[in-house]
Amino acid sequence: MTTLPEMPCAEFVERVTDHLEGALSIEDEQRLQDHLAACAKCAHYLQQLRDTLELTGELREDDVTPEMRGELRDVFARWRAERS
Ligand SMILES: [Zn+2]
Repeated sequence: MTTLPEMPCAEFVERVTDHLEGALSIEDEQRLQDHLAACAKCAHYLQQLRDTLELTGELREDDVTPEMRGELRDVFARWRAERS
């Protein structure tokens, strides 16, 4: 396995749009993939995002607004609270 620092869900949400745009560094892409493999919640989220992109055709900056990211953080916060 790698010795790269673990990526938390919040960082995954921050970086997933860069991932979809192919804009991540190799190291961050690896961390994102490692997180995806270990986190069903984020894998599901990424799938939803891809489904959305197939409908809209392309990812635009306006499609993933800070507001949307804030909502996703709330989802993750609730999810963590339920698990603890
Ligand atoms: Zn996650």
